[in-house]
Amino acid sequence: MRWRTASRCDRPLKAARGLTNGRPKASVTLFALFTLLTSPFPALTLSAQPFQLPTANRALFEKGGEDRFFVGTVGKTWESGTFGCVRSDGWQIHEGIDIRCLQRDKHGEPTDPVMATADGTVAYINTRPSLSNYGNYIILRHHIEGLEIYSLYAHLQSVRDGLKIGQAVKAGEPIAIMGHTANTHQGISKDRAHVHFELDLLVNDRFADWYRKTFPGQRNDHGNWNGQNLNGIDPRLILLEQHRLGDKFSLVNYLRSETELCRVFVRSTNFPWLKRYAPLIKPNPAAEKAGVAGYEIALDFNGVAIELIPRSASEIKGKGKFILLSVNEAEEKKNPARRLVTQRSGHWELGTHGLNLLELLTY
Ligand SMILES: [Zn+2]
Repeated sequence: MRWRTASRCDRPLKAARGLTNGRPKASVTLFALFTLLTSPFPALTLSAQPFQLPTANRALFEKGGEDRFFVGTVGKTWESGTFGCVRSDGWQIHEGIDIRCLQRDKHGEPTDPVMATADGTVAYINTRPSLSNYGNYIILRHHIEGLEIYSLYAHLQSVRDGLKIGQAVKAGEPIAIMGHTANTHQGISKDRAHVHFELDLLVNDRFADWYRKTFPGQRNDHGNWNGQNLNGIDPRLILLEQHRLGDKFSLVNYLRSETELCRVFVRSTNFPWLKRYAPLIKPNPAAEKAGVAGYEIALDFNGVAIELIPRSASEIKGKGKFILLSVNEAEEKKNPARRLVTQRSGHWELGTHGLNLLELLTY
């Protein structure tokens, strides 16, 4: 779960179906090689520049251009407009990047077109700004290297006329005009007008049902498109890495190489992430042969499941639905805002937020 606070503009199917049922009896290594060479969605296919900047502002790629690219929060430096544990002394997460406006009308209102970051389809449009910290916002769905990735554009002044859910859009196609809409008490000033841009993984397509049961009586105006069901990755690092590597960039490789915060075991073999993010599963032939009892999962500091390994019952020590296997203390110290794990009497355990995330992930 993401417990974004004020600045947040508001978490398949037989699990190992692809790994167990459909797999030939030949060696898994050979199978992996075969998949790599022949699959229509090979995990390691290198795709050219999957993401584009969502506005004409390109200062991100200029030396010392950060001030001209990111908008900080009131009275803070540009770093507070980047992704991560960048607010409230590191204890508040900002799950996107805030991109500065380049052009204004005679009243000082932003007029920058906002463009689709990649080819995709429209997943959600909110044009009732009073219902979200995001104000007016759009979510697009993309398929990149076998991963279902979502991009989100918030605080929009207006959404392009006629844009509809399910409609296909091309990378670079204008979808909206930048603005400063939000339902927060203090609002966003005209001066700080920006697009809040996220790249997300979708935690669970049964979110709305889970939310209703877990938080009875609480409002959920956006169904599955609640920010808590979208797990952000860092657009700045991804855009810079793409810029550096060109068509050698791979999103799957990027995710696999992220620093892990902790490692957990979940006693579930059938949850949507396994299908939606199958390229992040690391094969374990021994467990698949013996019978998969659950998954070992590496989480990054924002709770994104970056690696999943099937495990057999004999490979797991301990009982319980969720077991904390390890904690990267240096990473927890550096990026603590999600409070996924907590230290009690000298030992680490899953905190309420960590448990909620795993409940939603495996729901
Ligand atoms: Zn923002």
